[in-house]
Amino acid sequence: MPIDIEISEVGPRDGLQSLSDIMPTEAKMAWIKAQHEAGTPEIEVGSFVPPKLLPQLADTPELVAFATKLEGLTVAALVPNLRGLEGAVASGAHKVSLPFSMSETHSLRNLKKDHTQMREEIQRCLSYLETIPVDRRPKFEVGLATAFGCTIEGDVPESRVIAIAEELVRMGVDEVGLSDTTGMGNPAQLKRVATGIWEHCGRDKLTGVHLHNTRGQGLANALMAVEIGIHTIDSSLGGIGGCPWAPGASGNIVTEDLVFLLESMGLNTGIDLEALIAVRDIVSAALPNAELYGFTPAAGIPLHYEVARRTSKEALSE
Ligand code: ZN
Repeated sequence: MPIDIEISEVGPRDGLQSLSDIMPTEAKMAWIKAQHEAGTPEIEVGSFVPPKLLPQLADTPELVAFATKLEGLTVAALVPNLRGLEGAVASGAHKVSLPFSMSETHSLRNLKKDHTQMREEIQRCLSYLETIPVDRRPKFEVGLATAFGCTIEGDVPESRVIAIAEELVRMGVDEVGLSDTTGMGNPAQLKRVATGIWEHCGRDKLTGVHLHNTRGQGLANALMAVEIGIHTIDSSLGGIGGCPWAPGASGNIVTEDLVFLLESMGLNTGIDLEALIAVRDIVSAALPNAELYGFTPAAGIPLHYEVARRTSKEALSE
């Protein structure tokens, strides 16, 4: 059965980078393997940042090498710059994502680069990729970070996000992604920005969103993304990582709840929900201090889950 919505698990990167505890490499491998076996089609396994900055992710090259041996799995990694991209290519990552903060203040704080410097770095990345044989060249996506609002600047004008997306596509990036880094977005805003980017760049240049659940709007935003035709949604197992500004609020949207939502609606994710929930044991055993979120794992898979899926699938195919 073809996958209707592709879930990209970002827990090993986005989740772990915001925890101070370091997960042992063996446990990360067990997590990645178990989640692949549960049917997850894509996993962002780490970030090619200097280990001094993020010791939690220092084993990213090993994890990419490990994960690319898992059959059928798309192995993604984050890169902050050309040097990171070179590392990702050397390790054999299938897909790389470079975050470009739409808020210039956030960009300066996060990557120490203003927008002009970011464009120059992206241009260097594109020129480098040209030199890589096509069969070893990863898909290159620029994530439009803080696209829905910034914790420092506040409003991020939609026109700016759309204009930068258009510029990046013209420069030659394969795709842009919409990131609600700060969990400030709402569904109407997501629809406007995505539609604006599609009008200016073409539908194939934006197929994925990265959502945070800081204000509890994550699944509402995900549902809007699905309704308008977004194909890939990032989420993290147990919403791991949390949100330092809002205790009790998870970081990324919770993969388990997202799978429950989509599958109940009759949309195929390829993921076995029961097997996915079991993966939590690996994470909590390796990170006893980390809090795992999620309503579905807490309440349990309801008895009518299979019936709900079947009923929705039948209705969709009519
Ligand atoms: Zn994020």
